[in-house]
Amino acid sequence: MRDVVCADMKIGAQTRPVVLIGNPVDHSFSPLIHNTAYELQGVDAVYLAAGVTVGQLPSAVRGLKALGAIGANVTIPYKQEALALMDELSEEATTIGAINTITIHHDADGTARLRGDNTDVAGFLSPLMEIQETIRGGGVVIFGAGGAARAVLFGVLSWLSPASVTIVARNPDRAEALIASFAATADTCPVEIEMFDTARRPVKEARLIVNATPLGMYPREAATPWPDLTAFGPQQIVYDLVYNPQSTQLLRDASSRGATTINGIEMLLGQAAASHTLWTGRQMPVDEVRDALLKAIEATGTAV
Ligand code: NAP
Repeated sequence: MRDVVCADMKIGAQTRPVVLIGNPVDHSFSPLIHNTAYELQGVDAVYLAAGVTVGQLPSAVRGLKALGAIGANVTIPYKQEALALMDELSEEATTIGAINTITIHHDADGTARLRGDNTDVAGFLSPLMEIQETIRGGGVVIFGAGGAARAVLFGVLSWLSPASVTIVARNPDRAEALIASFAATADTCPVEIEMFDTARRPVKEARLIVNATPLGMYPREAATPWPDLTAFGPQQIVYDLVYNPQSTQLLRDASSRGATTINGIEMLLGQAAASHTLWTGRQMPVDEVRDALLKAIEATGTAV
């Protein structure tokens, strides 16, 4: 359980809700992240997690307006379904075809409008922006072709100017569909598909390797999308979106061969920071929030 002790947090009649909509949500770190930020900045809001059952998504989303919420996050399995319930969408959300953030705006006559955004892209990119020059013109490999891979592929194509991208997927049809949905963005460089047993060359030659599969996630921590560590080297950046555990088998293997590694906590914090700005107009105090998050993870161990 991700409890946050906010001794100074005052919840009163003016306090406005922000809600995480998903299923399951019991083990989410988002309440801890956002409530820590509210407490640090004196924002009069409270972030709650709501496990919404299948069929109840439209009522839950409509309820945000009715309850005067500031906004919401949307997580698995509703990121795509929620998109159709928005009054307006950011360009990124439209292209990606999924939202993770809802912000409630009010027209001059007080009518509430729901805007859907996708801050997963900003979250994914946040630890890469200061090293983007080292990726430019190189190869990128993405393991997986699911929801997170959509945000990763969009971010890579839009911001990192790679020479080529390879999606490594066990289900090539899903990878085909992913690439087809970014046909316009993918104009800039070739995007190939490989199976896990045919991807050695692109993996070995890649400057950036991203794990967007759950392989290595608790409780199957021994798993890795790429067991052959001889493919890794010092010129590479290996980025695992898995954040529990923070040090995955993939990152340990890559690090042992001299690669730079990034764990999924950075994307988690990055997407939260971008949502926080949409809701409050403020910059999240990311370093302090990271400290609180890592302390909480340490206190609970890796068991989620
Ligand atoms: P998803 O939509 O279920 O997609 C998972 C992808 O991994 C699919 O392409 C799936 O293949 C593939 N996959 C699953 N098991 C596999 C296996 N044993 N071998 C090979 N491929 C396998 O999940 P997601 O939402 O993209 O999430 C993926 C991971 O990213 C999760 O660990 C999640 O926690 C993490 N994530 C982290 C953040 C963050 O903020 N750090 C944000 C989002 C997601 P099929 O298509 O064949 O099923």
